[in-house]
Amino acid sequence: MVGYRYLGNSGLKVSEITYGNWVTHASQVDDSAAIATVHAALDAGITTFDTADTYANTAAEVVLGKALAGQRRESLEIFTKVYFPTGPMGPNDTGLSRKHIRESIDASLTRLGLDYVDLYQAHRFDYETPLEETFQAFADVVRQGKALYIGVSEWTAEQLRAGAALAKELHVPFVSNQPQYSMLWRVIEEKVVPTSEELGLSQVVWSPMAQGVLSGKYLPGQPVPEGSRATDEKSGARFIEHFLRDDVLTAVQRLKPIAEQAGLTMPQLAIAWVLQNPNVASALVGASRPEQIASNVAASEVTLDSDTMAAIDEALGDVPERDGSKTDDVSPKTRLV
Ligand code: NDP
Repeated sequence: MVGYRYLGNSGLKVSEITYGNWVTHASQVDDSAAIATVHAALDAGITTFDTADTYANTAAEVVLGKALAGQRRESLEIFTKVYFPTGPMGPNDTGLSRKHIRESIDASLTRLGLDYVDLYQAHRFDYETPLEETFQAFADVVRQGKALYIGVSEWTAEQLRAGAALAKELHVPFVSNQPQYSMLWRVIEEKVVPTSEELGLSQVVWSPMAQGVLSGKYLPGQPVPEGSRATDEKSGARFIEHFLRDDVLTAVQRLKPIAEQAGLTMPQLAIAWVLQNPNVASALVGASRPEQIASNVAASEVTLDSDTMAAIDEALGDVPERDGSKTDDVSPKTRLV
């Protein structure tokens, strides 16, 4: 069974494991595999789904919409995002301006075949738009009933604080941040998590398996496995590349006996690890095939004891990235078009 957690200081519950369709739908896998994977997620008890307008340049939202068509809307929590350039990528097809937010929410809803999304997220911080303009636009989206809650992704602690102040003033239900977080990438622990706890924001964390690296299937000095993300030249390969170093892959192999001892698979250990952090509302996992998601959901409601947590830290040594200032570099300082 998949457990549930509240999203921020709100009354909304999300499944502890969210299924996300970045680099898979309308890209790495064909539509029938994509739809079968979404159905496997539903069968396994996942009710929360994440996508973005930018995934496969808007096509991933269409596939997710198709895959969820006919499901009871009240039983799902559906998230999407705005910020990155989409469509013909004109000067206003990007960012967090009032114009782009207004046009993007309508386009996302059409592609998803929905009247509203549960969570609408600013995919990055936009240094070129006044924050007040962005939050006023989000307030309108919420008042129009097109999104129930507002979140952001990869914002720094200072940006979260500024956003929360405006959200309070404008009565915007701002509930979450979506950062990268895994045993290998712990940069949110220093500043983002403590600030979020204070502000009543949850983390919905992406790539908890480090894009598949923490499954242990990438072996040091060996060719990458056939059909894996690392072989996806269309998109996935360039994102996973920075983890495919011998020091990282060797350290990951040292986790195998720890997973066995805990009675978990390596992917389950990786997902359970992020869920030990109480500020994490959900682990946002990907899957290129149904059997991955069916097996990975068993990570929900697992408690890792302190010996296991300590053994993980010892096995990984100084390989995990912990520098809190790394969040400062995630949002582009200027718009991409
Ligand atoms: P994960 O770390 O969960 O990686 C998922 C990938 O790992 C799968 O696609 C699969 O790749 C591999 N995998 C999964 N299960 C297994 C298994 N049991 N055995 C072996 N390999 C396995 O997360 P993602 O990187 O996919 O990100 C998840 C979601 O997070 C995205 O879909 C998106 O919604 C969100 N995200 C958000 C970002 C943001 O900026 N806000 C950025 C990136 C992601 P394969 O089979 O191809 O090797």
